[in-house]
Amino acid sequence: MAGKDYYKILGVEKNASADEIKSAYRRLAKKYHPDLNKAPEAAEKFKEINEAYEVLGDDKKRANYDQFGSADGPQFQGGQGGFSDFFGGGGFSGFGGGFSDIFSDIFSAFGGGETKTRRMRGEDINLAMKLSFEEAIFGCEKNITINKVEACESCNGTGAKNGTAFSTCPDCNGAGRVRIQQNTMFGTSIRETACPRCGGLGKIIKEKCDSCNGKGFKKVQRQIIVKIPAGIDDGQTLRMRGEGNSPLGQGVSGDLNIKMTVLPHKLFKRDGFNLMYDLYLPFTTMLLGGKVEIPLSKGKFVLDIKEGTPSGTVMRLKGKGVKVLNKDQYGDLLVTLKSEPPKNLNKIQKEMLKNLADSFTDSDFQKYSKFRKEN
Ligand SMILES: [Zn+2]
Ligand SMILES: [Zn+2]
Repeated sequence: MAGKDYYKILGVEKNASADEIKSAYRRLAKKYHPDLNKAPEAAEKFKEINEAYEVLGDDKKRANYDQFGSADGPQFQGGQGGFSDFFGGGGFSGFGGGFSDIFSDIFSAFGGGETKTRRMRGEDINLAMKLSFEEAIFGCEKNITINKVEACESCNGTGAKNGTAFSTCPDCNGAGRVRIQQNTMFGTSIRETACPRCGGLGKIIKEKCDSCNGKGFKKVQRQIIVKIPAGIDDGQTLRMRGEGNSPLGQGVSGDLNIKMTVLPHKLFKRDGFNLMYDLYLPFTTMLLGGKVEIPLSKGKFVLDIKEGTPSGTVMRLKGKGVKVLNKDQYGDLLVTLKSEPPKNLNKIQKEMLKNLADSFTDSDFQKYSKFRKEN
């Protein structure tokens, strides 16, 4: 999917509103729907349009697509609430997002609802996971156990014994499609539609699979290894395609979505792929300069403090930050230097400082004297 220009496919501008995208999709879907357009390339085009709309019609997916150039390039999406353990909302859904709504809209416009033959998609599984700061910035592997719905192996997900105990559907004689006569205000029309009895398969179960009692799926526990890429951040969701629940009947499995909570670090803070912290130094070091060993996310670095460094100076260490997700690139480390005055000055120290202070005039302090002059 990566690399396709979904905006181009739908013929809209990059900044098109949700309504513009929706209406462009409707127009094209009508034009290329295989039931309405028998041109050989129509089906492929229709698929492409749906693919584009599945991304652009969904705010989150669209944002991802805009940011990463592909809805599933780096397999992440922004944070989203409502995560629960295992079996998400329960039950199954057809297409994700607002897709099915708009789909039925189109078909109601053509005077019939049930022409759609849907490719079923299993339910997503949504989990939450906690990561330490280091696990998030360096990446790690986690072994987790999930409860999921999987296609029954004994019957290959068909629900029929050995996956073969079918008989031909008597309603459609195995064709999977039936003709329906309809009386409309324009007269009688005959329409072909998916056979309601067999759901378009052309066959029905003769003998149920013992292993799943004819359901075609089972609830199982699975151990999976989650590879967490370096650079993942708090609130982001790792999506593992096809690791969710199997659909009822034929189709594709849902995804496993794992929302990350990254625990704070005692020193480092993160801003995207940059790391930062405040470094407090004795005021004398700020005045006189010196070398200071500072911690990096991995290892140490000797920082050269220049003589007369003002408090608040930010030292940027290029490439010493967090690895950028799915790229061979690193953020920076930003160290803010802060001057720390000594506590509990004794009498002699105070005396020395006073003498030192007296040795200066206002003009020794550029900014201060400028401020004095202007105010
Ligand atoms: Zn079975
Ligand atoms: Zn049938």
